[in-house]
Amino acid sequence: MPVQPKPYKLVCPKCGYSKVVSLKSDFLSLKDLISMSPVCSKCKEQMDRESVDKLESVIDSLFGMFK
Ligand SMILES: [Zn+2]
Repeated sequence: MPVQPKPYKLVCPKCGYSKVVSLKSDFLSLKDLISMSPVCSKCKEQMDRESVDKLESVIDSLFGMFK
């Protein structure tokens, strides 16, 4: 039985840029590998990986910056 990969968040410790990596299956396409790249697209800093347990917390983090 294949394991559903959990989504996780990558956060840049330098500029605060973050993105959520959510994979639909355990088969990785080239596009998936690029989106998983733990390097900030803004300042090329190595990003920290944070776990995301629930979809709600993902939505919170996405909209939290506007509050
Ligand atoms: Zn950055």
